Amino acid sequence: MTHNTTNNRKYCSQCASILIKKCPNGDTCERSVCEDCGHIEYDNPKVLVACFATFENKLLWMRRKYEPMAGYWFIPAGFMELGETPEEATSRELFEETCAVIPPENLDFFMIGSLPDISQIYLAYRGEIADIKAIQTTDEALETCLFTEDEAPLDKLAFPTVIETFHLFYKEHRESNYGAHKASVVNNKHILSPLASKAKPKQAHPK
Ligand SMILES: [Zn+2]
Repeated sequence: MTHNTTNNRKYCSQCASILIKKCPNGDTCERSVCEDCGHIEYDNPKVLVACFATFENKLLWMRRKYEPMAGYWFIPAGFMELGETPEEATSRELFEETCAVIPPENLDFFMIGSLPDISQIYLAYRGEIADIKAIQTTDEALETCLFTEDEAPLDKLAFPTVIETFHLFYKEHRESNYGAHKASVVNNKHILSPLASKAKPKQAHPK
């Protein structure tokens, strides 16, 4: 399998010379390399976070104000900033998009997702909102609303490929029986599975 290991950056971030694409000595794939100063621009995946913020039997949704998929519904989500933990990023995105507050230490892991087609991964966390009076529309959300599964705007979902994730979340939330999951979206095909296999190894592994 081949991976796209370079982006479209033209100029060296260190000396502003033109970058060329080549495989550096000792490396295994093509990079953007500056032949003037020797700098190599490594391009690595970005990390998204998403927040399943609940209140009783409802999940907090927002209608996106900005592209991609402006006008469609999703849960608060966005890119991690430098220096943040995933929980801090999730708490921040939740607040920026809905004004709801869940402190980072009150967030529990829910899912890791792979988006290799766009070189991103996402981490989803869940938590209960203490004070729903804080929720409001924001600069990033046209509407914010708590919905039960029956009320959820799944026909106007911003990223409908991952719809099964929402059914899974509502089911686990209803039953107060949460798992940890992994997901992937490859060629628009969404695959969900438990994060760790519950199968016992065929053989014990003594020390
Ligand atoms: Zn350079």
